[in-house]
Amino acid sequence: MGKLYSFSINTPKEGLVNVTSLARECLMDSGIRDGLLVAFVPHTTAAVTINENADPDVQSDILLGLAKSFPPDPGFRHAEGNSAAHLKASVIGSSVTLLIEQGSLVLGAWQAIYLCEFDGPRTRKCYFKII
Ligand code: ZN
Repeated sequence: MGKLYSFSINTPKEGLVNVTSLARECLMDSGIRDGLLVAFVPHTTAAVTINENADPDVQSDILLGLAKSFPPDPGFRHAEGNSAAHLKASVIGSSVTLLIEQGSLVLGAWQAIYLCEFDGPRTRKCYFKII
């Protein structure tokens, strides 16, 4: 089994941080030519997703859509006051799995891997495991 790669990433208040180059570094280091790469974030108000890397407006539209879908609500009971961020993180998810073929990540031309921050700024962990 491959080793666990760990990165600390400083995030903005809210936003998507492209971690694709980190994933590719791990893949190169591993020497694995054929397999799977899992990206995982061990957080409850951050997430990881795959989406467009060309037009940065897509990132802000994703954040806007999530903000409209999960607005603050006076009925939220969680005392920390960041329930909307918890909801967004759960909907987006805490891991993605990518295919590895001939030593490269299988990604569409417009795809990148993003750590999604919903309650920053913070220092977040991002893990990669390649098998
Ligand atoms: Zn909380």
